[in-house]
Amino acid sequence: MKNIHKIFSDWNITQIIILEKFGVKVEEGYDSFILEEGEVYNSLKPYLDKWHVRNDTISQFSDQDLNNADRLVLRDVWANSYPMPDGDGGYKKLTYEDTDYCTECGVGLLQKEPFRLKKEPNWGNKKIFSLNWIYDELFVERSFYETLLKGYEIEAKPVLLYKKDTIIDSVLQLVIPITSASLQLDSYAFEVCKSCGRKRYALINHGFFPPFEEHSDESRHLFKSNEYFGTGANARRYIFISSELRKQLEKFKVKANYIPCS
Ligand SMILES: [Zn+2]
Repeated sequence: MKNIHKIFSDWNITQIIILEKFGVKVEEGYDSFILEEGEVYNSLKPYLDKWHVRNDTISQFSDQDLNNADRLVLRDVWANSYPMPDGDGGYKKLTYEDTDYCTECGVGLLQKEPFRLKKEPNWGNKKIFSLNWIYDELFVERSFYETLLKGYEIEAKPVLLYKKDTIIDSVLQLVIPITSASLQLDSYAFEVCKSCGRKRYALINHGFFPPFEEHSDESRHLFKSNEYFGTGANARRYIFISSELRKQLEKFKVKANYIPCS
């Protein structure tokens, strides 16, 4: 694994001169540069901290990192359209039971109805998508489901066309069960919501993903974390995939990113 930093700021001349000494070129004003973690980054870090720049860390995993992991977080599949109705959070009322929902932290929505889409997806060669705003559900092409996913004992349910409420034949929503196993999150940041008292961890955006507790006997190929993660008014569960199923998705050239569990 290597960490890449994308660094943004509103640069002034003094900063530009200092950056040049480290071989970094930026334009005066708002600009960014990319730097791999290492000697140069470490020497520059005290300046970056002092200047309060925005520093986004992206972890890149090697094939070996990915292949060695028994389990991985699955994310960044094709982001296709929005849940309907897309105005004013209308899809939440339509799709979820919200009696347990907290508007402060976003925890507690329970799906009660099929998702509605504006139109049939333009699949091309793609097989899996997620909806914008919905981070912990996956939608798949029916034939891909029948060919591969059904064999992994993953269940699926229909998706409807918005307003007509007819089934869209080519799409299925995967039923992704929530594990009862706990992640080892002792050293990870969390908040307890002031409004509902529930716990939500910070998003894990770089580094390997923490493993599950040792006694965990979760053996499914696809499942969601028991814990919630998020920021602002949004909460989600992470989706985990087995090594075996990831390799299958790779074979079918499914667009996705993975974070290996350590
Ligand atoms: Zn809350």
